[in-house]
Amino acid sequence: MIKCPTCGIFNTNRDYCENCNTLISNDKKIELKIAAIKQEQIDEAIHHIENPGVAERLKKHPNALYRTVGWILYSVSAVVSIIGAGLAWAIAMVAAG
Ligand SMILES: [Zn+2]
Repeated sequence: MIKCPTCGIFNTNRDYCENCNTLISNDKKIELKIAAIKQEQIDEAIHHIENPGVAERLKKHPNALYRTVGWILYSVSAVVSIIGAGLAWAIAMVAAG
């Protein structure tokens, strides 16, 4: 038996008030909250998949010119990260003597 906070009617074994349709079940409230959080996480994951880096997006562009630019950007960022790793390694070697 749950008393509806909106209209004060007592409901038995109901998730929603039979009089005004207000959500009265605490279990259901928690369930909905968990579902909302899960949905949020799913939306975020989808957002990440649908919005990758500029290079990733350009690589999938229908226009070949844009795809080329995407690959160039991708190569540049790959080269930069390799150079960065190389530099870090060189600095570490120098520091180690
Ligand atoms: Zn009610």
